[in-house]
Amino acid sequence: MATQEETFKKLVSHCKEYGFVFPSSEIYDGLGAVYDYGQNGVELKNNIKRYWWDFMTRLHDNIVGIDAAIFMHPTVWKASGHVDAFNDPLIDNKDSKKRYRADVLIEDQLAKIEEKINKEVEKAAKRFGDSFDETMFRQTNPRVLEHQQHFDALHERYKKAMNDNDLNELKQIILDEEIACPISGTRNWTDVRQFNLMFQTEMGSTADGAMKIYLRPETAQGIFVNYLNVQKTGRMKLPFGIAQIGKAFRNEIVARQFVFRMREFEQMEMQFFIKPGTEMDWFKYWKTQRLAWHKALGLGDNKYRFHDHEKLAHYANAATDIEFEMPFGFKEVEGIHSRTNFDLSQHAKFSGKKIEYFDPETSESYTPYVIETSIGVDRMFLSILCGSYEEQPLEGGDSRVVLHLPAVLAPVKCCVMPLVRKDGLPEKAQEILNSLRFDVKTTYDEKDSIGKRYRRQDAIGTPFCVTVDHDTLVDNTVTVRFRDDMHQERVHINDLRDMILKAVDMSHLLRSLAE
Ligand code: ATP
Repeated sequence: MATQEETFKKLVSHCKEYGFVFPSSEIYDGLGAVYDYGQNGVELKNNIKRYWWDFMTRLHDNIVGIDAAIFMHPTVWKASGHVDAFNDPLIDNKDSKKRYRADVLIEDQLAKIEEKINKEVEKAAKRFGDSFDETMFRQTNPRVLEHQQHFDALHERYKKAMNDNDLNELKQIILDEEIACPISGTRNWTDVRQFNLMFQTEMGSTADGAMKIYLRPETAQGIFVNYLNVQKTGRMKLPFGIAQIGKAFRNEIVARQFVFRMREFEQMEMQFFIKPGTEMDWFKYWKTQRLAWHKALGLGDNKYRFHDHEKLAHYANAATDIEFEMPFGFKEVEGIHSRTNFDLSQHAKFSGKKIEYFDPETSESYTPYVIETSIGVDRMFLSILCGSYEEQPLEGGDSRVVLHLPAVLAPVKCCVMPLVRKDGLPEKAQEILNSLRFDVKTTYDEKDSIGKRYRRQDAIGTPFCVTVDHDTLVDNTVTVRFRDDMHQERVHINDLRDMILKAVDMSHLLRSLAE
């Protein structure tokens, strides 16, 4: 059995080999933590975005979309707090010269302790079999208790250091925990420093007096500065939301794990404007809504969990992450934040404009509160690939790599193949392709044996392969081969469209979420 790490490495090369993701500027040896999406990657990514966009803006009457520019007035970032506080604590190992996030080193250490506890529990569960009482074991086993005490103490200390922004204490924790650099193996650390994650550039020629501007590190601020525009022109009543999909940029200190942490990435964010005092109800509502959206894809309910934040961002009064079980552990895919009225108040203060809502029911004006849902397209993309990738042994010692992608998200829904490249079969196959292309992304393949062609489609997650043979010319039936269980069925070509649409049409998935 391959380890999780090996599987992940294979997944990364699979993404390149099958046109999902390429390193940026690869002929120049790439650019750190920047990636390009290939011919299949872009289709999958667009489908993810459509699933999100339609869920938000179609299933919720009170949510509308916008598309704000990446460049924004620099004062936006002063007001939002990003100029002063969008920092990560960094630490360097003096021997390997490698740079780390101090908070991540400590969180990894916490995860290691948790792992030790879980191992003890697993071992005991095996030993005791059916009579195993896990709660009792966790409360009484001396080794588990010892690890748990260590975990709790470290956790408390870490939380306090982060909340107090105490960089010396973060370093002290790293020293006390004897955390070593994974590269050099030494504990020869520099002090912990703050590092601002925003990219800067200049707008206008220097002769005119260039203005320093930033590449947006989140799309949310484009929504906040358009709150009044949308509310007024759309005659929106509270509660209402504004959704946006777009690029964001962060000069991440440690960029690793493929498209999980990139310097240029894409976000799908929705800010939901509400009456102050109702935020905890809406926070709960959006937690439920968003988790349901993830789970509806069918990758396995047990692969998701909520993780409440240790340290609340400067603007938040409640925050949670939806985590997905990646091969490198449960990791954040989406954040749900109760942002209070922080952003709108700050923009009112810095712009001198009144940014409020007049409530016709109570005849008062106030600054709305905000619940935000923020998900990275690229992390979502990665979670779907991790949840779908399988190296499957087959009968007779053979094997295949198959992506069990949710059919609605698959880059290609159907591939039409003539059994042989003669006798009018290619023409018939083209005819079928032409009848399907208006409804679903369909491709054509006539090279190599049918078996090889099936494998190629499995590798990109195509749910249906349609084979045209000599009988097709006589009775207009084709062989449909299904990706996941590889079973085959004879189907009349008039029934193909409906059969495929039933499985891949996003409206069915959306309908299931509205029920
Ligand atoms: P992390 O703690 O992993 O750095 P974050 O808490 O800073 O993430 P948010 O600011 O809440 O992330 O951003 C919202 C979402 O944007 C995240 O849930 C993630 O999906 C995505 N995201 C953030 N940073 C990156 C990145 N560098 N690369 C890819 N996606 C990202």
